Amino acid sequence: MSYTVTLIPGDGIGPELAEATVGVLEATGIAFTWDEQQAGEAAIATEGTPLPDRVVDSIRRTGVALKGPITTPVGTGFRSVNVGLRQTLELYANVRPARSMVGVESRYTGIDLVIVRENTEDLYAGIEHRVGPDAAESIKIITRAASQRIARYAFEYAVRNGRAKVTAVHKANIMKLSDGLFLESCQQVAADYEGRVGFEDRIVDNMCMQLVQKPELYDVLVLPNLYGDIVSDLAAGLVGGLGVAPGANIGEHAAVFEPVHGSAPKYAGLDRANPTALILSAALMLRHLGEVVAADRVETALRAVVAEGRTVTADLGGTAGTRAFAAAVTERVRGA
Ligand code: NAD
Repeated sequence: MSYTVTLIPGDGIGPELAEATVGVLEATGIAFTWDEQQAGEAAIATEGTPLPDRVVDSIRRTGVALKGPITTPVGTGFRSVNVGLRQTLELYANVRPARSMVGVESRYTGIDLVIVRENTEDLYAGIEHRVGPDAAESIKIITRAASQRIARYAFEYAVRNGRAKVTAVHKANIMKLSDGLFLESCQQVAADYEGRVGFEDRIVDNMCMQLVQKPELYDVLVLPNLYGDIVSDLAAGLVGGLGVAPGANIGEHAAVFEPVHGSAPKYAGLDRANPTALILSAALMLRHLGEVVAADRVETALRAVVAEGRTVTADLGGTAGTRAFAAAVTERVRGA
């Protein structure tokens, strides 16, 4: 079995992390054909846009992409590549697991959360206007179709991954119509999974407090776009920050896997960046492709190297470079 995957190395530290991650993936023995596509700064310089059509066309063809971070140029008027991909490919589910790693400093241990964020509507629909000189309005869009679709994704994720419970997060006590519809949609979907996956709901402010005080009570969370954006960073903070946080953007016909962190331009080309988040994103990609055994091997190898702490990057308290860290993980994957 061979997979054709679109590889977008990205900007800043992206190319180093992509090279490191490709090495780890190939060590699993699975055959990949990489359709490498430049996006971001290099594409702006040569093609006048950070997201040329060929990149989207490639993902439409392959159905799956592994993507490094991309610098969003400030003040040039270019649309963010991430927003562009999400909208063009209708990547409606943003999935971010947050799982504690031995060897990564954090205030907590034993965290194992999955944040499922609706990626297409809510206040991110971009409908806002000024109302005279001293007021502005942003419109929050919530539909039953998008809410049920994301709720179903969360429940199916729970079933596929042996998770016990889905918690819907909302503010339906105040936004009775919009968040009320989100909650009602989640309840309707939950009924189809009764007896198989547990269901409960939490008001978002209470959810934030509970995640800080009792994160072990939660499992899979499903949220509208804005709360999902905020709560997923909170969850990343619980396990040691953005440097170790992987992510997936999933649609009906395509999926893009990428780290949560940005392009860290100050570390570009220095062999200092931590490849953990992109390697974990690649493991999510393996699961998406149905390669569960290989995904487990990659995650186990990475966790072992991080836990030992001998060959890790400076942000994890070590002295190894990106390449040496990745080589240690690659060796473990081969040996597993
Ligand atoms: P950033 O994530 O690049 O950096 C934040 C801090 O974390 C910095 O100190 C950085 O050096 C450190 N860091 C990040 N990733 C690291 C890694 N793998 N190893 C070691 N240290 C790491 O965030 P920023 O500085 O706000 O953004 C830089 C650029 O990245 C901006 O242009 C931003 O728009 C872009 N960005 C892109 C994405 C994406 O493509 N998905 C996401 C976030 C930011």
